[in-house]
Amino acid sequence: MNKHLPASGVTSLVAGKQGTSSQTSSIIDPASGLEVGSLSHADLATVDAAVQAASDAFPRWRDTAPAQRARYLMKFRELVEANKQELAELITREHGKPVVDALGSIQRGLEVVEFAMGAPQLLKGENSDHVATGVSTRSSRRPLGVCVGITPFNYPAMIPMWMFPVAIACGNTFILKPSEKTPSAANFLAELLTKAGVPDGVLNVVHGGREVAHALVTHPDVKAVSFVGSSAVARAVYEAGTSAGKRVQALGGAKNHAIVMPDADIRSTVSAILNGAFNSAGQRCMAIAVVITVGEAHDMLMPALREGAAAMKVAPGADAGCEVPPVTTREQFEKILAAISSGESEGAKLVLDCRDPDAGKDGKGYFIGPVIFEGVTTEMRIYREEIFGPVLAVMQVETLEDAIRLSNSHDLGNGAVLFTSSGKSAQLFEREILCGMPGVNVPVPSPVAYYSFGGNRGSIFGDLAANGPDGVNFYTRRQVLTSRWS
Ligand code: NAD
Repeated sequence: MNKHLPASGVTSLVAGKQGTSSQTSSIIDPASGLEVGSLSHADLATVDAAVQAASDAFPRWRDTAPAQRARYLMKFRELVEANKQELAELITREHGKPVVDALGSIQRGLEVVEFAMGAPQLLKGENSDHVATGVSTRSSRRPLGVCVGITPFNYPAMIPMWMFPVAIACGNTFILKPSEKTPSAANFLAELLTKAGVPDGVLNVVHGGREVAHALVTHPDVKAVSFVGSSAVARAVYEAGTSAGKRVQALGGAKNHAIVMPDADIRSTVSAILNGAFNSAGQRCMAIAVVITVGEAHDMLMPALREGAAAMKVAPGADAGCEVPPVTTREQFEKILAAISSGESEGAKLVLDCRDPDAGKDGKGYFIGPVIFEGVTTEMRIYREEIFGPVLAVMQVETLEDAIRLSNSHDLGNGAVLFTSSGKSAQLFEREILCGMPGVNVPVPSPVAYYSFGGNRGSIFGDLAANGPDGVNFYTRRQVLTSRWS
């Protein structure tokens, strides 16, 4: 058994010590459906203790030189790098995704750490001498205090690393509330941060579900909340946090559209869509959920897309060559199967149905293979709602303008991708598309870490996206000092 998943279970970490708990839940391996550990949910005393520990640690951490904070992060980066295989295997065991995907997500998290290592530069202010006789003005960025991060199940290491490295680089202290479905990676990261020399109380991990999250979001001593998860919860957290006077950034769900033009290179487009729609079983916030074919692109694309999807290897994430892993929870498994049934009953045409693959035939594990619907309309549930599984909806339109209009009219606007060989079409797409992270000829247009990550419309609540420059703006308050020395 992985040493970071002890038989006694996963507990909250408050200033490096185990927290007390009110209840436990099971940690399940989605490839077998079997319990592989247990999680102790924090009680309210532990929530208070975590906020107290983070408040106590704040003044000293705030006054630690940014260059010293950056050195701790450099050491942390080395330790994560040295332990990444074990961390990836832990993620695979709780989430189900292939180890190679887990490694890729850790790498993306480390890019944020690298960005945050620039703290001395990122925190620099501006200065103007002689704004009046003997008077100068300077701006500075100051930390907020205790910040909270609430994260989803699908990136148990990467999304926490979108948040706490930037927050603590800016001089804040942090409380992480990971998903109760994939909780262990957070403890692993917190332990490595402690090994890197970061003082107790700077990063605390508080486990649990919505009650624990709510207690943190409304706690009077918490200054800011970063949230990533589904849109309904993102909205609720944004409303609860802002009405309690806190700064909140809440990233929500997605229904990313891929537009395929007749001039697209069909071979590479098929490969990109297979990756975007079905790898990680579609459990990515940048997954392709809808394909819009323009004109003749439909007949050019669909045979190869169906054939490619049917040939994808559905297997446990620990198996070499796995392309479509199990989905993470039984709840998610049942929700996806219900969505497929609703597509059928609402009249969409099921052109590929691998919902019952060999990998799940023994009744163990939450395996669903690629499913493709054609003839999907905007009223159907499989179009309107985020499914977050390996289910692709295909729609046909006549022009690029129609396709962009269709994509822009969806409630969610995280990413969108255009496949084309025309620079003119790409320019029109870039100008007109309403989403945070558009892409051209790429499967998953996730920006690198020195840009920020976030959508538009119902995919984000709040003005500032995650990590990158927006992260620094989110985790600091601007101050402008005017002074006279005679
Ligand atoms: P979720 O919304 O169910 O849970 C997210 C987190 O919120 C968890 O830690 C959970 O314990 C907590 N939570 C649940 N209910 C809550 C409540 N009422 N109040 C406060 N906290 C609550 O999401 P999930 O199922 O874990 O993750 C999948 C979702 O996350 C998908 O919708 C996906 O698109 C989204 N996601 C978005 C991004 C992005 O960048 N926009 C990235 C990854 C995942």
